[in-house]
Amino acid sequence: ILARGRDVCKQNGLLILSVLSVIVGCLLGFFLRTRRLSQQEISYFQFPGELLMRMLKMMILPLVISSLMSGLASLDPKTSSRLGILTVAYYLWTTFMAVVVGIFMVSVIHPGSAAQKETAEQSGKPVMSSADALLDLIRNMFPANLVEATFKQYRTKTTPVVKSPRMAPEEAPPRRILIYGVQEENGSRVQNFALDLTPPPEIIYKSEPGTSDGMNVLGIVFFSATMGIMLGRMGDSGAPLVSFCQCLNESVMKIVAVAVWYFPFGIVFLIAGKILEMDDPRAVGKKLGFYSITVVCGLVLHGLFILPLLYFLITKKNPIVFIRGILQALLIALATSSSSATLPITFKCLLENNHIDRRIARFVLPVGATINMDGTALYEAVAAIFIAQVNNYELDFGQIITISITATAASIGAAGIPQAGLVTMVIVLTSVGLPTDDITLIIAVDWALDRFRTMINVLGDALAAGIMAHICRKDFARDTGTEKLLPRET
Ligand code: ASP
Repeated sequence: ILARGRDVCKQNGLLILSVLSVIVGCLLGFFLRTRRLSQQEISYFQFPGELLMRMLKMMILPLVISSLMSGLASLDPKTSSRLGILTVAYYLWTTFMAVVVGIFMVSVIHPGSAAQKETAEQSGKPVMSSADALLDLIRNMFPANLVEATFKQYRTKTTPVVKSPRMAPEEAPPRRILIYGVQEENGSRVQNFALDLTPPPEIIYKSEPGTSDGMNVLGIVFFSATMGIMLGRMGDSGAPLVSFCQCLNESVMKIVAVAVWYFPFGIVFLIAGKILEMDDPRAVGKKLGFYSITVVCGLVLHGLFILPLLYFLITKKNPIVFIRGILQALLIALATSSSSATLPITFKCLLENNHIDRRIARFVLPVGATINMDGTALYEAVAAIFIAQVNNYELDFGQIITISITATAASIGAAGIPQAGLVTMVIVLTSVGLPTDDITLIIAVDWALDRFRTMINVLGDALAAGIMAHICRKDFARDTGTEKLLPRET
């Protein structure tokens, strides 16, 4: 038994360490909360976790560019278009299914009855319209400057403008009426009141295209995928660039293999640091407990039953074995709340543990981390209907359909970074006329729910790679493509 235990530890050492680090991070976080650390001490304490995030983010750009370009270039045009169409169709379908699960859960549990509206803070901040959000999504697909896209993305800015009402002179109210009362006081005359009837200015919100910090992953994915397809069509003349991308991809994966040994340490501080920052869980739990339970139950139903069942029905393989292979990536998703930052580890798990064809992983994963977010879509639908319930707003069937479509679109538009879903939820709320200010109702628990939905986002991408590898196995067996260019790939 001892020898077997040693073998298990040897093979799964990193995974065991990662699980332990999540547990230690939670315990340490709750213990240190009792010590009432200052903001400064908390930020020093979070430093090792910040380093982990930086390491992961550092690898996103070379990984996404090299994997999409080399992955798509190494397939013949017929295979790559089949894989592309199947993957995008699968992503849309599963995202829509996630939304349906979310709508079902929120209608059954009805968490809105337990939450009281008056507890919400009103931010009063202007928000962008769904049309602007949609335009930003399309703008981001076509970055005007690729270098800028590595650190900025397009985001429409909405600013208040003060405007006075325009009226014909005869209808306009008098601009100002001053009434003076005059009084004698100690022998001198003083003015004691004045009445100003100037009409109050009208405030309108003006939207104009702008940028915000953060990598425009969608633009980079779109550009790299297009380049990859074109390189594939160029044949031998494109081979040097394809070979360069394959080398880049391999070397990034080698960095990942070394960096993963730091991750368990970083996870402890990332999780404990977040627990130190959070609001009092008892106060939040009372207001948002049922809402959080609804989101988590929906995520569990979709991620642990529906997606694995789909995987089993299509591939006839055991989904538990597959999920065990990507556990490490799921833990990183839990710790970082970012599917883009988890991407290097998802790659590593799929290639090394689940033996997915690297050409499939190179296409399916980066695209998935950008557009396939089942967890986010489910959460957006639940949150929108929860806000409707809190406001006693009856949604009709047409509005439910609108929510399901816009929640799918909003999840596609969300970047794979922490709490991006909260921003794109504006699209869902405005589509059915719900107050966008009420997003503040759910902010207190969003950081925690974000971790769980990111896990489901990553799980969805990984299972998609498994399913695509099965569906396209014959094409890939036939198509060895330019993969021959780099014979020593491991
Ligand atoms: N944090 C999520 C992700 O990276 C996106 C979101 O739902 O906010 O996948």
